[in-house]
Amino acid sequence: MLAFNDILEDARAQIELAADLAALDRVRVAFLGKKGVVTELMKKMAELTPAERPAYGQTVNDLKSAIQEQLQIQEEALQAEALSKTLAAQRLDVSLPGRGLGLGSLHPLTQTRESIENFFRGLGFDIVDGPEIEDEYHNFDALNIPAHHPARASHDTFYLENGFLLRTHTSPVQIRYMKTHPLPLRMIAPGRVYRCDNDMTHTPMFHQVEGLLIDDHSTFADLKGLLQLFLEDFFGQALVLRLRPSYFPFTEPSAEVDIQCVKCKGQGCRICSQSGWLEILGCGMVHPQVLMNLGIDSEKFSGFAFGMGIDRLTMLRYEIPDLRALFENDLRFLKQF
Ligand SMILES: [Zn+2]
Repeated sequence: MLAFNDILEDARAQIELAADLAALDRVRVAFLGKKGVVTELMKKMAELTPAERPAYGQTVNDLKSAIQEQLQIQEEALQAEALSKTLAAQRLDVSLPGRGLGLGSLHPLTQTRESIENFFRGLGFDIVDGPEIEDEYHNFDALNIPAHHPARASHDTFYLENGFLLRTHTSPVQIRYMKTHPLPLRMIAPGRVYRCDNDMTHTPMFHQVEGLLIDDHSTFADLKGLLQLFLEDFFGQALVLRLRPSYFPFTEPSAEVDIQCVKCKGQGCRICSQSGWLEILGCGMVHPQVLMNLGIDSEKFSGFAFGMGIDRLTMLRYEIPDLRALFENDLRFLKQF
């Protein structure tokens, strides 16, 4: 009987020493496996007399149960330990900062366009869209540019089939709008325009915004006042304007508008080519012939129109030296805005 107690003590000691589940399993096999200590004791039953067998069998079974119980206790302890180790290693730190989603931003041309739209919308102007594929009537004839007029040649037009073309300016939107809206009216038409031209300062596709106001008392002074308000709002500073006489087929009289250089305030710098002035837009009073083309009484109604390049305004506003940077979609460039 002493031998049994020794075996149990030995088993207890080994079970306690088992540092992990694999080690514990080796102890289980050593005692309870097919060739284990307890199994060998069971086999010895064959050598005993029938009278001795029940007591011996009972003792071996008790030993087996005691070892199994110890194994069970240790296994649960090791499992709990392994779980808490895993939890500690994989701890979720909710205080860590997030990875961030890398928000995109609006293209500088879009920002310029939205800034222009916001200003004019605030003064009650409609923001109007029109087709980029136009016909000759809306792009030229209705704007007082008949066939063989020299202005047609200067537009370097992309012609399509059947008398269609890619619009060379946003002015045809004015014609479409005047046809369908009652007077008085005011609208601007921003959008893409196309000319067969490609060099340092020209791209085949560029952006314009055209403005038009028609009522029964508009004057050239109203036009100048509106442009001064707009340009000062756009550049965020007080500006000196200069109007130079010019010619456009669809306005009379016509003027080019310059502003004193926003960078050097007229002193002369690289941006203004040392002139102190920046050409910024063209404008004028709507030509009576254009009004008559649309059946509007030019004795009763008058109006003014203006047009400017969104690309050039963007370059001046953000001091971008090369027009092509606006169209190359280089993220290193675009992320600066
Ligand atoms: Zn300058």
